[in-house]
Amino acid sequence: MGAAAQDYRIDFESFHNVIDNGLTPTKKMRHAINPSTEEPLPPVPVSTQEDVDDAVRAAHEAYTAWRELSYEDRAGYLLRFADAIEANLDGLTDVLGKEAGKPVQAAGMEFFLTLGHLRETAKLRLPDEVVEDNDERSAVIRYTPLGVGVGIVPWNFPVLLGIGKLDAAVLTGNTFIWKPSPFSPYTSLKLGELAAKVFPPGVVQVLSGDEDLGPRLTAHPGVAKVSFTGSTATGRKVMQSCATTLKRFTLEMGGNDAAIVCEDVEIAKVIPKVAMLSFLHSGQICMDIKRLYVHEKIYDEFLAQLVSFVSNNFKTGGAGDKEAMLGPVQNSMQFAKVQDLYSEIGKQGWITALGGPVSPKNPQSNGTLPKKGFFMPPTIIDNPPDDSRIVVEEPFGPIIPVLKWSDEKDVIRRANDSKMGLGASVWSPDIERAQSIAKKLEAGSIWVNTHFELAPYMPFGGHKWSGIGMEWGIPGMKGWCNTQAMWTRKAL
Ligand code: NAD
Repeated sequence: MGAAAQDYRIDFESFHNVIDNGLTPTKKMRHAINPSTEEPLPPVPVSTQEDVDDAVRAAHEAYTAWRELSYEDRAGYLLRFADAIEANLDGLTDVLGKEAGKPVQAAGMEFFLTLGHLRETAKLRLPDEVVEDNDERSAVIRYTPLGVGVGIVPWNFPVLLGIGKLDAAVLTGNTFIWKPSPFSPYTSLKLGELAAKVFPPGVVQVLSGDEDLGPRLTAHPGVAKVSFTGSTATGRKVMQSCATTLKRFTLEMGGNDAAIVCEDVEIAKVIPKVAMLSFLHSGQICMDIKRLYVHEKIYDEFLAQLVSFVSNNFKTGGAGDKEAMLGPVQNSMQFAKVQDLYSEIGKQGWITALGGPVSPKNPQSNGTLPKKGFFMPPTIIDNPPDDSRIVVEEPFGPIIPVLKWSDEKDVIRRANDSKMGLGASVWSPDIERAQSIAKKLEAGSIWVNTHFELAPYMPFGGHKWSGIGMEWGIPGMKGWCNTQAMWTRKAL
């Protein structure tokens, strides 16, 4: 065990592409920005078309032998990969915190979920399904791997979302190229280095780059499948590009999750959960609560308790802050978008129950915000109109509208009145009623008395403009496979 831990040791100073298990330099380098300090992070590779071609070639070469391995063997590699990650947890958590703007607790949580994902997914299997078997013939449904897979990953959960693609891809017999976001490539490159210590060459590779890299991968004729997570606008481009070579694709895109709180909840019990699930990672999670519908009978009391809970419990701070719950917005582009939305508050006359834009007129909003970094104060908007930007758009920042409802049918209509359909929840001690409301919601995940609850063995994905196909669990594994019908006549 000691020796194995030694073998898995890596440095956290330099960052390279991982192609065919080699740490591969590129002529051009770039760097991302630490959102907690606005300081530059270390140089990272900018992959060229040649790097993409090399990686796809290596992935092809690896594929033939990899697909022949048994599920047990491939699962064994995943488990050793999890061990390699665990052996480097401190360094990895530190890098993730710095690049993603995650306070220590948040970065640690992402790795906790990541290790769980690898180890639980390693237990899953896609066996042949015998549909018919008699003296004359058998009919069997099989799931065969696709070939070279690409995972395109966003910056908000750069590790877990990448691993959730990688583990299902390689477990089902595909080889895998990981493309992190240019805003958060660092931890993924280090995971690639660890993968190179565990997997045969070409099975898991990581390429970092600029905005040209994603299109190069989705257009590459040697790639069989693209699994994309990111915005709906980019997902549409990925789908168009995949069409050219008829690649398979899975799209996990934006969300605008509604939570419906019924009048019979015990407010004090629900508040900590709803508050956490609305502000987790400063609102930068696809499945954070983004529209909070509260029954009019409890609205005032609920809003007052929510404001008090958020202001008393959620400290905002940077990557090194051990007490902080909320980190910065992850990058300058997103920061500008969120600032633009905050600037609507005054223009549209939205009522702020908490927070609001930092300005001389609203100095308390500055609260304990650090002086440098892309920080925004947690903000709650009190009952804005249904057609306002804060309700219609996905803010992806620490701001949430709370909306009043009175009629059950109407609140279901309002919750469904969105192009997005990622997740939605209903909160009530009356489970039967809550389930009946939840089943009418148009979303890939529906929850009762919880939200953003996920497990590696449950599928995860969106309806409507939030997604095509599912990831994770058995449905996720099927997404990395062709379905094959096998017929055998037992006598000639
Ligand atoms: P984004 O769409 O800007 O980028 C996502 C990834 O796509 C990045 O790696 C980026 O480099 C790459 N990319 C950009 N243009 C490309 C192109 N033309 N072809 C191929 N790849 C390209 O998204 P983001 O800003 O990184 O992430 C935020 C968005 O992601 C939000 O909308 C959020 O809701 C969504 N998201 C969805 C889920 C989900 O599971 N449904 C999870 C997390 C985030």
